[in-house]
Amino acid sequence: MPKIENVIIVGSGPAGYTAALYTSRANLEPLVVEGFLWGGLLQQTTEVENYPGFPEGIMGPALMQAMRDQAERFGTRFETDVATRVELAGEPGGIHKVFVGDEEHQARTVILSMGAEHKKLGVPGEDELGGRGVSYCATCDAAFFKDRHIVVVGGGDSAMEEAIFLAKFGSKVSIVHRRDEFRASQIMLDRAKASENIEFLTPYLVERFEADEAGGLPRVHLRHVGGGEPLVIEGAGSFIAIGHEPQSELVAGVIDTDDEGYVITQGRSTRTNRPGVFAAGDLVDHTYRQAVTAAGSGCQAALDAEWYLRDTPEVPTPAGMPEGDLAEAQWAAPAPDA
Ligand code: NAP
Repeated sequence: MPKIENVIIVGSGPAGYTAALYTSRANLEPLVVEGFLWGGLLQQTTEVENYPGFPEGIMGPALMQAMRDQAERFGTRFETDVATRVELAGEPGGIHKVFVGDEEHQARTVILSMGAEHKKLGVPGEDELGGRGVSYCATCDAAFFKDRHIVVVGGGDSAMEEAIFLAKFGSKVSIVHRRDEFRASQIMLDRAKASENIEFLTPYLVERFEADEAGGLPRVHLRHVGGGEPLVIEGAGSFIAIGHEPQSELVAGVIDTDDEGYVITQGRSTRTNRPGVFAAGDLVDHTYRQAVTAAGSGCQAALDAEWYLRDTPEVPTPAGMPEGDLAEAQWAAPAPDA
């Protein structure tokens, strides 16, 4: 019979690790199923300049290592593997199951923080040429395109950030965006525009990627959105930076999601439609999607889980957790409205 955990956290970006920090400091000894590539999307970024507390900025992987270390310091345990299946109880006090392959974990509460993944264009050649000229991660693959022409697709902050970074490697960077206006913040746009070897191609859509018969980098076929002349960029490394998709497949059909797959939470809480199951971070948030907002919602999920454990009559208060009368004030209060 597996041990019944107080909290299992599935996912390990800023939301998951912050939830781990808070629940471990509440003596709940959380178990984080953190995935093989722990740390979420920040592991694939370079400098993070907008996480408070780091006036000089901090590298994304260093920030995630620090968050993980901080959670570990208070007793968080990690399973560096992928959750493959869940069985989530439907009634208050029910025991949830999280499977890692054949291994079964049981828990009184589950915090879902699986985050989001890079969105794909869905055009011909994209999958076939993945890893052979088409990439989603500049920090991972930039070195392969040294002194080559590089295409960055997208018009948001990610695209600008990738382009600015890639401009240090490539001979020229072409930002391809489907509109003449940009979603990126002004500061990022200005930085990209200030770079001598970044050009903007708008309004263009990537129609397809075509393999080079001679084994060189792919050809990128662009369609002008306004019906103008198409463009073909010969031999370029391409980086797709068009946003993210929530990683909610694990709970599909069990936990309510919206049309885009983001988990729906109740009011301003992190509660899902299953009692004792909470969700945080990019899995829930299609609006802000910042490291700091994800961390904040991880904190909320941890507090919601704590209050649920303490105040749900069907769940015995975990050992080491103070008995409290927060029930009326916090958990038992109606869900705060959005
Ligand atoms: P985003 O802001 O959603 O931008 C996605 C871009 O891709 C948009 O310009 C969008 O075009 C385009 N796009 C989406 N689907 C497309 C498709 N199928 N074909 C062609 N183009 C497509 O995503 P993001 O840039 O990843 O940023 C996400 C969040 O993270 C934002 O809040 C951003 O501020 C933040 N972020 C911040 C930093 C930083 O401050 N250093 C760095 C990275 C990200 P449309 O504009 O036409 O919709």
